[in-house]
Amino acid sequence: MMNRNPIYQKIVIKVGTNVITGKDGRLDTGVLAQLTCQIAELHKQGVQVILVSSGAVGAGRSIVTLAGNLPPVATRQVLSATGQIRLINTYTDMFADHGLITAQILVTKEDFRDRVHYLNMRTCFASLLHQHIIPVVNENDAVSVTELMFTDNDELSGLIASMMHVDGYIILSHVDGLFDMKTGNSAIIREISPSEKHFHQYIAPGKSEFGRGGMLTKCHIAQKLSRLGITVHIANGKTPDILLSILDGKCPGTTFLPEKPTYGPKRWIAHTEGMEKGSVTINDGARSALTSGERANSLLPVGIESVQGTFFKGDIVKICATDGTVLGYGMAGYNSEKTRSILGQKGQKPFIHYDYLYIIQ
Ligand code: GLU
Repeated sequence: MMNRNPIYQKIVIKVGTNVITGKDGRLDTGVLAQLTCQIAELHKQGVQVILVSSGAVGAGRSIVTLAGNLPPVATRQVLSATGQIRLINTYTDMFADHGLITAQILVTKEDFRDRVHYLNMRTCFASLLHQHIIPVVNENDAVSVTELMFTDNDELSGLIASMMHVDGYIILSHVDGLFDMKTGNSAIIREISPSEKHFHQYIAPGKSEFGRGGMLTKCHIAQKLSRLGITVHIANGKTPDILLSILDGKCPGTTFLPEKPTYGPKRWIAHTEGMEKGSVTINDGARSALTSGERANSLLPVGIESVQGTFFKGDIVKICATDGTVLGYGMAGYNSEKTRSILGQKGQKPFIHYDYLYIIQ
């Protein structure tokens, strides 16, 4: 086996449905055995691993033949509720073969909706890792519907990666990474800088066959995490020893290079899209101060033009420009009523302090 000195101490691995299911939609136990064996090897080398695995709906498809014409939401509920059991049992048995204990964590977006819930989740994961248990995470598809839903497991695993302050986040898909579509020779893109803006040129059209996330979502999540200071790899989960190669520093696939790490509440706030209680529209001066990236600026009441919705101090609010562009999210330093009474005024304390502000860029 390789890598005696793994380059990361703590990682999140996200495995897509297309990696662990065959063409017929059934779980591919060959690939699963390979992946669990590599994770067990990394564990032996002292790497803490959180595994986020899709595949519940896929596994359910191979168990249940649906009778009648079920609507899509009910179909997903039935297939995931049945398939998740098979998925977790497979992982449990395979990790047990390596002497490892598996924990199942099924979550919805609600479980991260405020800082207290978020910190409870963090304690749960930290405690499992401390006990040398492998957490296997999936969205609780049977109960998470519409606004409770994550966009896909890429979003969920990105949130967990930044919450747990991992140093590496590995997205395993059924393709080798991002490709240079412009040149036509489909050369793999080895490295992506945090400032990259044009992902379309690296992605072949079309979405995953099974599972929800496409390559573009993966790129946006990967970039968000790289800006928070986490190195992200997109690689092919079916390639033998892929995880060991990555941890050995060989970087197959595409690597999103990290910026200087950010810690504290900003990491949670970076993942609060859709959880906001209200929004503020800011003027052009405030917009350029927040988005120039030159200085660590807070959002001051003088830069606010209008306030939408009702929120309390400490709630998450969305920050919009006058043309409607969403600029970011932050934790309100005043409630909505107070904010309305002081907007446009100079000399007031920040509405959102820099440490509680996440700008999309
Ligand atoms: N949670 C879904 C499943 O286990 C997958 C969602 C996704 O593909 O991102 O089937």
